[in-house]
Formats: sequence, C-alpha cells, structure tokens
Amino acid sequence: MDDHKIFLSESEMPQAWYNINPDLPAPLAPPLHPGTGQPLGPEDLAPLFPMALIAQEMSMDPWVDIPDEVLDVYKLWRPSPLHRAVRLEEALGTPARIYYKNESVSPPGSHKPNTAVAQVYYNKMEGTKRIVTETGAGQWGSALAFACQLFDIACEVYMVKASYHQKPYRRLLMETWGGTCFPSPSDRTEAGRAILAEDPDSPGSLGIAISEAVEEAAQDETAKYSLGSVLNHVLLHQTITGLEMKKQFEIAGDYPDVIVGCVGGGSNFAGFCFPFLKDKMDGKRDTEIIAVEPTACPTLSRGMFEYDFGDTAQLTPLLKMFTLGHKFIPAPIHAGGLRYHGASPLISLLVSQGVIETQALQQRDVFDGALTFARSEGHIPAPETAHAVRAAIDEALKCKETGEEKCIVIGYSGHGHFDMAAYEHYLSGDMTDYALPQADIDEAASYLPKVE
Ligand SMILES: *Cc1c(COP(=O)(O)O)cnc(C)c1O
Repeated sequence: MDDHKIFLSESEMPQAWYNINPDLPAPLAPPLHPGTGQPLGPEDLAPLFPMALIAQEMSMDPWVDIPDEVLDVYKLWRPSPLHRAVRLEEALGTPARIYYKNESVSPPGSHKPNTAVAQVYYNKMEGTKRIVTETGAGQWGSALAFACQLFDIACEVYMVKASYHQKPYRRLLMETWGGTCFPSPSDRTEAGRAILAEDPDSPGSLGIAISEAVEEAAQDETAKYSLGSVLNHVLLHQTITGLEMKKQFEIAGDYPDVIVGCVGGGSNFAGFCFPFLKDKMDGKRDTEIIAVEPTACPTLSRGMFEYDFGDTAQLTPLLKMFTLGHKFIPAPIHAGGLRYHGASPLISLLVSQGVIETQALQQRDVFDGALTFARSEGHIPAPETAHAVRAAIDEALKCKETGEEKCIVIGYSGHGHFDMAAYEHYLSGDMTDYALPQADIDEAASYLPKVE
C-alpha cells in the first residue's frame, strides 16, 4: 500500500461513538458534590447540562448512536484523512512507518468541533437558548461558536485575559461565527470580581474562566454550560477519530504499534486511542499508548491522583483525577491548550492502571520537532499537537537505532496557523524551557480537598 493519504467516503463514517466506560479495567470513581462530598446524581448536573449529555456522562452502553443531524454537520469536514508521513520518514532516515490522523481540517482547525457540534445539538433538542463556556487560547471557544452558529444558539465565551489580548484572531473567529467573548477575570461575575479585588492585573487562568462560565450558566434557566474536554461525554464524542482510523488502517493493511497524542484535558488523545485500547485490553494487540504533556504542566506524569475541583473558585464537582491543584497558575508556555491543572478521570484511571504511558517534554524540543515536521510534511502543527509530533519523532529515531519497523501514529489535533507568534518566539531564539518546580506540587498537596 503506497498511498500517502487514506480517505474514507462519507458513507463509511462511523455511525456510533465508542463508550469505554463498560470496558475499563477498574470502575471509575464517581464525581462528588462540591458542597456535600456525596456522589452526584443527574439532578445535580441538570442546571448546567442537558439531560442527554448527563445520561451519556454516566452511560454504561458500549455504543452511542450519532444523531443524523450531527453526522450531517460532521460531513463539512469528516471523515478526516489519515496521512502517511513519507517525507518525514525520509527526513529522519527511519525504518518506522509514521502516520498522522489529521483533525486540523475542520473549519476551526482542531478536533474540538467533534464534541462542540454534538453538545450544541443536544442542547438545541432540549430548548437551550444560550451556551456559556470558557476558553484558554481560544480553540474551544471558536469551536463552540462555530457549532452554535449552525444550530442558532447564542454563545458566550470567557477567554483567559492574557490570551484575549495576545491572540485576537481566535476571538475574531468566535465573533465571525456570531459568538460573544469576554476577557476573564471579568467584573460580570462574583468569581471574576473576587479575583480582580485581590489582583486587578490578574492574567486569568482556565480555572478562573470556568468559575465565571459556570456561575453565569447556573443563574439562567435557558442557559447551559459546556466543557470542551475532561468529561466522559466529551471523550465519547471524540472517539469518531479513532473509529475512523481503525477503518483507515484496515484499508492500509497496517495497525499501530505506537499511538502518541498530546494531553490537555485528554479529549483528543482519548478520541484517537480508545478504540485501539479496546483491542489492547482484550489482549488482541499490544499497542503502546503514550500521552504527551509539557514539563511546565506535567499533570499526568507528576501530579497527584486525587479528588480535586475543576476550577479555582471550587464551584465544579470533585473529580478523581491527576491534578496539580485547582489553584495552579501555569507558566506562560505556548501550548495554551495543555495548561490545565487536571485531566480527564477516564485518562487518569487508565494511567494509574498502567494501560497508558506518559511523557513530559520541554517546549524547545517540541518546537524543534514541529519545524522538522513543517519542513518535511508542510503542515504546521499547533503547539499542543507539536508535543505529539516530537514524541513520535523520538520514537522513530529510536527505531533508526534498533532497526525496528514500527508503525507510529500521531494524533494530529490541530494546525498552528493562529500560533505563528509562538513560532516567531522559537525562530528568534528567545524561547526558554520551563519545568514545574516540585515545591509547587507539594504546596498543591497541602490544599487538595479532603475526601474519605
Ligand atoms: C484544546 C486542544 C488540545 C488539548 O485538549 P484535549 O482535551 O487534551 O484534547 C490539544 N490540541 C489542540 C489543537 C487543541 O486545540
């Protein structure tokens, strides 16, 4: 098979998402109510999410049908291509076969609309008029604004203030798709005002922006909240990518030995690897699955596997996950989407069970890999995606030493066209490395909520 791209036709698109919950090697710890510490019931989540998504969050069905209306929108860019990175292989001189599943072909340029479209659809079915969310560098906000536009729902986005000012183009994407964007912390919410009272110049964080969005959505019956990662239903929607890949590998007559993906909250990574994890857990295959994160935010590789809040103001349910502490303020590295203090409970459980491996990389190595990729394959990866690219290059270089002909797959979560300032920073030689000091993790350990 010599094709450089493996396409599926629209009629070959998967018709159901894969739910890994019933196949887990150990049961998932339940989310807890932030006030009482008791397991959450569906009614606790009802002010924030439509019932269909709450049902998916707790579902034990292995497959969830994708509604026709969602499939119709997916067809704007899906099925996405699986590329064979022949020129990268040649540049590296590796005997490995390198592939990348290209989620950068969606209109907002990342995997995020896979869940945004589904979430907005279920909200529309249940009469939601307005969806409120947060965004870091703007990828999630723009994906949600895109989806809301297609289903005619208002979209309001709290964007981390530092990014709001540094990255006007993603805000303009949101506005182009009819969304409204506020810099966070803002004076529109109690959570925002409390932060501003302490520090009027706060650059904001994802944790703060989540507090603002949750607070605003909870106050209005016709409004709902939406999260772009971490939660089970978000990971469920992303499995469309891995399911497509399985079919594409069948056509290519190949199967991954190694899958690498970057992890912020864990949704793109889960999407790419969960359908293959099933084969691994069934003992049919022994694929190595590697989650890659920045050394500045090493949630899975150095965090604690404990219950913690998802946000700074302690409004969200407690989730059992790897965490660096809900007060974590990340260093200003360029991979904005990989700077969250927590991680998906599903991914966390699988890491704790040793089914998924982790790696943390320094940003200069990451950008060095991104340039190797851009100069061979042409596509310019998002700084987040570049973490997966770098890890794949390292795997391929190991194969060069050992002569192993491994099949390595990159979860190519998005393009970097709105992140050229990060490339400028690297190309100018001014970029520095950063690893989170152990003292910061020890401090977080002292304030994590106490749970029996
Ligand atoms: C948001 C984002 C990520 C990180 O989020 P996950 O939920 O971990 O997938 C990674 N890559 C890109 C391009 C993103 O936009």
